[in-house]
Amino acid sequence: MQAEIIAAGSEMLTPHRQDTNSLYLTAQLNDLGVEVAFKTIVGDNLDHLIGAARTAFSRADIIIFSGGLGPTEDDLTREAVAATLNLPIQRDPIILTALYKRFAARQMVMPPNNAKQADVIEGATILANPVGSAPGQLLDTVVDGYRKIIILLPGPPRELKALFEEVVKPILTTTLPTRHIAHRILRMPLIPESQVDARTSPIYREYTDIQTTILAGHGEIQLHFTSSKTTLIEAQARVDELTSRIETEMQDAIFSSQGESLEEVVLLMLEMRHLTLAAAESCTGGLLAQRLTAIPNSSRSFVGGAVVYTPEMKTRFADVPSEMIEAHGTVSPEVARALAEGIRNRTGAALGISITGIAGPTPGTGPDAEKPIGRIYIGLADDRETKVNELNLMGDRDMIRWWASQHALEMVRQSLL
Ligand code: ATP
Repeated sequence: MQAEIIAAGSEMLTPHRQDTNSLYLTAQLNDLGVEVAFKTIVGDNLDHLIGAARTAFSRADIIIFSGGLGPTEDDLTREAVAATLNLPIQRDPIILTALYKRFAARQMVMPPNNAKQADVIEGATILANPVGSAPGQLLDTVVDGYRKIIILLPGPPRELKALFEEVVKPILTTTLPTRHIAHRILRMPLIPESQVDARTSPIYREYTDIQTTILAGHGEIQLHFTSSKTTLIEAQARVDELTSRIETEMQDAIFSSQGESLEEVVLLMLEMRHLTLAAAESCTGGLLAQRLTAIPNSSRSFVGGAVVYTPEMKTRFADVPSEMIEAHGTVSPEVARALAEGIRNRTGAALGISITGIAGPTPGTGPDAEKPIGRIYIGLADDRETKVNELNLMGDRDMIRWWASQHALEMVRQSLL
């Protein structure tokens, strides 16, 4: 079963308001085993609404309208749906009485245009609104020979959620065939999306019953797999089969298959090996430490370190010889190595990691003036050796700093595999 959500409201076609109802509805529908195939945002215009309704009725099985059920001239969802289905609208006396009572309870006279909220499309089930005045409507009907479930819900998110949760969901649960959803996410750092797709698509394409999505960003690729079956065991088994085949293909490139972040995985690996880590950060200014310490109980494995931003601090807190800095610049493999070893010695941690580089947008100074923006050195020292990686990152300052921290975490993870 495929659904379409139509968010009605001109305000959502401006930069000032976002359609958040459809995010909520998508999550709810997915829980019921229904995939959302289309989302439409349409302004308060009868012709446009009719056009959107006509298109949706031709391509989706469940169509949910959000908004446009209020009392004003520009609330046109009822009219548009009725016109598209060629059905009359009738004013429901019970809703009308309830509306009058609602106003009377507040010692107010109901404005005449408010009566519009009692208008019901012929054949629709009225969905009583637990927290507002506009009721929803549900039509279980046939359009061009196909069954369509058409639902009209009010726009205010609080009302839409209450109505869906308390009224619509129980109806859909009994109306729709029982489906259970299983979901798995595989996460990989620092690999190009095209490479992940080239290697995994021959596998996931075999699973036409599983919805696969690739998300890329923040130095990470995520593969999302969703299976919908009549039992949860069946859905889970199917997703597990696919993920284990992808894991075999991608091997150690995958850092997480249960949703954990890269920093969580690194901390877990350190803890399992009874190792500790310390960091000396220059251009990332503590971002790596921030990411690690955002995880509860990180002190079990991350001891701390220093933000060594100026050359003097590199010497004072990580024992980098000032002659070395003068000779090679702070952005150099030599200094990255000395920083990693220095912070390891100073803190007594099993591993010392360092990040030094040029995040831009202004170039480096002195011996670093010749080095390009995005040039980063990461050092990793343990009791046997010190490795240094050179990176040439692209993007703005925030991006370069983030990617540098991502590379540092990945360097630690690789060393622990
Ligand atoms: P009302 O009786 O309040 O007029 P309505 O069903 O006509 O209800 P709208 O007038 O379309 O709903 O919207 C009412 C409020 O809900 C507005 O503040 C609007 O910004 C918000 N809203 C409407 N649709 C959405 C949406 N899709 N996502 C988030 N907020 C929304």
